[in-house]
Amino acid sequence: MPRLITAWVCFLMLAACSPKIMIHRATTDDIILLPRAEAENKISTCYEPLSYVAHPELLRLKYVRVNIHFMNSSDGRYNMPEEETTNYAQEWIKVTNSNLERNMQMFLPRGNTTPVLDIPYRYVISPDPTVPGDDGVYYHIDDELCYAVKTGRDRNISDKRVIEKYAVRDDSVMNIFLQTHHLDSIPSPTYRPDASGISLGSSVKIFGNWHKRPNVWDIRGITNHEIGHSLGLSHTWGGHDGCDDTPAHPNCWNVTNKPPCDSLYSNNMMDYNAHMAALTPCQIGKIVMNMTRLGAIQRNILEPRWCVLDTSATITISDSIRWEGSADLEGNIVIRDGGILEIGCRVSMPEGSNIKIFPGGKLVILSTGKIHNSCNSQWEGIEFVEERKMKGRLYIMEGGKIENTLHPLGTQL
Ligand SMILES: [Zn+2]
Repeated sequence: MPRLITAWVCFLMLAACSPKIMIHRATTDDIILLPRAEAENKISTCYEPLSYVAHPELLRLKYVRVNIHFMNSSDGRYNMPEEETTNYAQEWIKVTNSNLERNMQMFLPRGNTTPVLDIPYRYVISPDPTVPGDDGVYYHIDDELCYAVKTGRDRNISDKRVIEKYAVRDDSVMNIFLQTHHLDSIPSPTYRPDASGISLGSSVKIFGNWHKRPNVWDIRGITNHEIGHSLGLSHTWGGHDGCDDTPAHPNCWNVTNKPPCDSLYSNNMMDYNAHMAALTPCQIGKIVMNMTRLGAIQRNILEPRWCVLDTSATITISDSIRWEGSADLEGNIVIRDGGILEIGCRVSMPEGSNIKIFPGGKLVILSTGKIHNSCNSQWEGIEFVEERKMKGRLYIMEGGKIENTLHPLGTQL
């Protein structure tokens, strides 16, 4: 008899231990409306650079499309031969990316403990897919536009004609133009034919002695610097770049044994110095913020990897998190028991993706929050995983939005 009881208890326990799991697709009936919070921020966190570096799970690498234009004269004296350019360009971009892979601890202020975050973007040479055989590296013979003059009467560095004439897909690719200093200027004792450049929107011009095939390691810093301008950063030495973690300084090229350059030398990418290899959290945040701003050129030049679902990019929320910046996700979201995800800005979900909420999990869309698909497509929507009739919660604060769901859930609140 006791044996029978034990077996019966076991059977009951087993039954209790295998609860029914049901998937319930969220509809408008599942939405719990919340009034707008009274103490809403005056300035939305969506416009704060530091909001964009607060959550590592949102910092997937972004890929900046670039193409490269070698300018030469008809006598061939202003650049390297065309047959060398593709290899040179590939090596150059590889080495320039290697600086992004190794963000440096800031030198300034002295003794700082500024965090060294991963820099979340890389460059990719991007051919025009509609042109057979295109490799994204171009060669132009133009006796008028092949050279640069940085100073004096013939100064032409901000001249946009070379861009207007030769840029390729500059609405979606960063065009990099290589111009050699005018060969008549180079010998002048008052002219500095150094590696330098200028950012002009989605194009940059890099000046150097391209006919001498400079070592790509020597131009990686200036390349990152000029593209840094195009991605939205200013010089830091004046102290007015909108970041608190980039102090003003005398802009020394390198350390010397005389003040102020014996101690106040910078290694920031956005100063003129021998390193140009450090970006602060605020600078990275600014770039990521620009890269997530709909319609911004900094966004349009990215490979839109967020338009294709990558299930390895799924984000699992197990504790309480508030996303205060916008993001374009590449995977699904899973909210586990005890997880609370508050969405305060725009979040894009890729086509085919969903948000799964487990019992005990909560999704809260704040009044400035929106979940949508930013690729003119649809995402699947929200699913509750129900166990023993327990399910998670979906809250939407007045003003919050859910859009572009394949199954109707959209709200116009
Ligand atoms: Zn600059």
